[in-house]
Amino acid sequence: MESVRQITGENADLVSYLLSHKFSGLSYNDKIFVKQQPIPRPPMNNLVQIKSGHNRAFSKTLYDKHIWLTGSESRNKLFCWYCVLFAEAGYDNFKEVHRVLIKHEMSKDHTYSSVKFKVFGKQNIVNALDSARREFIKKHN
Ligand SMILES: [Zn+2]
Repeated sequence: MESVRQITGENADLVSYLLSHKFSGLSYNDKIFVKQQPIPRPPMNNLVQIKSGHNRAFSKTLYDKHIWLTGSESRNKLFCWYCVLFAEAGYDNFKEVHRVLIKHEMSKDHTYSSVKFKVFGKQNIVNALDSARREFIKKHN
């Protein structure tokens, strides 16, 4: 079986691999390996968004605005890196990209996923969920 450690290099599609193999099913060491990888930021040259009737190419500046944003070239979709890893079904494809990205960022699943990502390998899950809850309450107050 192909290991996640082989999904490296220029044309590797780590996001696609994780969508079909599930981060939660990896060994602890493989999870740590995934966490240590830079968030994949493929150019997504084939992704076109429709905005007010016009076709617009995907702009990589979106990656700077949303540090969690990632993409899969083979699936030709954008995803949330934290949610690909930690949310049951929190990833999405982003059609009306700007509005949807901000909405996603405010969602409960995303808040939980991002905290889980940050603390993964550092402390136990009870503390992680606790700080996720605090972060969520803070955002919505
Ligand atoms: Zn997310």
